[in-house]
Amino acid sequence: MSTTTCPECAADIELEAGTEENEIIVCPDCGVDLEVTSLNPATVELAPMEEEDWGE
Ligand SMILES: [Zn+2]
Repeated sequence: MSTTTCPECAADIELEAGTEENEIIVCPDCGVDLEVTSLNPATVELAPMEEEDWGE
């Protein structure tokens, strides 16, 4: 099992088995969206904020 650190709140995050690169995970501590950028070593970055465009 791979562990990494949340770049937002520095919490330890365990990547679940089967997690793939580029997968979006949610920090269990602060709830921020994180993108898995590498699996070996486990690395996550803040996921780009997707702004919902509700249109008109
Ligand atoms: Zn966090």
